[in-house]
Amino acid sequence: MKRIEVIKRLLKEKLELKGGNLTEQRVAVFDYLSQVENHPTAEEVFLAVKRKMPKISLATVYKNLEALVECGLISKLAHGDGAARYDIRTDQHYHTHCLKCGKILDMDIEDDLLAGLSIPEDFVATGYRLELLGHCSNCK
Ligand code: ZN
Ligand code: MN
Repeated sequence: MKRIEVIKRLLKEKLELKGGNLTEQRVAVFDYLSQVENHPTAEEVFLAVKRKMPKISLATVYKNLEALVECGLISKLAHGDGAARYDIRTDQHYHTHCLKCGKILDMDIEDDLLAGLSIPEDFVATGYRLELLGHCSNCK
């Protein structure tokens, strides 16, 4: 089965569970996200998808990204500065963030960092966000 067919089947299944439907635009947005590792903004996704679908608008791309987030198919990184970024990964993982060029890349952590923190007794921690700030290989 071709890669795009696999993506379509997966999207259709997941979207239908949440009452959404499969559209060519959603497929294109998801397909693009699954090929890049830099966590693009809605605008960057728009510029890339527009090459294949010249009539698509930024607002449509944005809506499709949000629908995919709602269905749990992608995740949204909104805790950095500036525009929200979108991530094909939905599992718990972390990021490095280059302070010069803004590039965000995945980083995995083996241990549960919560175990090493002195969390206030009256606070119930359910997770954490972690962004390692610094300079990427191009910027150092
Ligand atoms: Zn950089
Ligand atoms: Mn990521």
